[in-house]
Amino acid sequence: MRAVNSLPVKGRRLIEWLDRTLAWAMPGYCCFCLAGTLGDQPWCERCFTELPWHTSACPLCSEPRPSSVPADMPCGHCLKQRPDFDQSWVPFLYEDDIAGLIQRFKFNADRRAGQILLQLMVQAFRARHGPGHVQAIVTADLHPGRARERGFDQTLWLGRRMARELDLSLYQATRRRLTPTQRGLSRPARKRNVHHVYQVTSPLPAHVLLLDDVMTTGATLEALSSACRKQGAAHVTAGAVARTPAGRAI
Ligand SMILES: [Zn+2]
Ligand SMILES: [Zn+2]
Repeated sequence: MRAVNSLPVKGRRLIEWLDRTLAWAMPGYCCFCLAGTLGDQPWCERCFTELPWHTSACPLCSEPRPSSVPADMPCGHCLKQRPDFDQSWVPFLYEDDIAGLIQRFKFNADRRAGQILLQLMVQAFRARHGPGHVQAIVTADLHPGRARERGFDQTLWLGRRMARELDLSLYQATRRRLTPTQRGLSRPARKRNVHHVYQVTSPLPAHVLLLDDVMTTGATLEALSSACRKQGAAHVTAGAVARTPAGRAI
């Protein structure tokens, strides 16, 4: 048998794809490295520990920063202009295995990748918030054109299942108008692009968790937050699976 690295790129990609598919499909084996696992978690302890956990961040906008900065000190952007939400909760950095899972989930509609992300988010939520703190999850309606392109709305898929697992209510904000994609836009342009774009049509409980897949500048989550305030949300946590540094839009 030839070593994987000596195969032409096409063959190598096929083997990598088969490995990944096999890992997703094999209960009892880690979804990342195929090592045997204990219990019903789809990952091994080592891979779980080595995931790009987002442990050092601005408490308001989750901008990554060195661990030497005190945890409760807001970043320069938030000191100048506080975001509309009260805090953020983004357990991962958009890197390595997490970036891979999000891409497969978002662009290839890979439900198995979504299932792994769901389990990771539920576990991280339970460790971070404890039950009873957040009362509802709010997701934003995806641009209808983009939902059609991808075949499904990945944030709603994740939000629905998280709400069910965590025994929370789920609300979906709707779009008042269509907007160009946020990709490649600067921080102020992103903010302008989504200003007043969402609306929530029913009253909300006091503490809500907004949910997006990737948080970049937080502009989308800010627009969603201001829509939630109008429906009575007093404490808003901006949530996402993973954070990119603000300067590195995807
Ligand atoms: Zn593993
Ligand atoms: Zn900040």
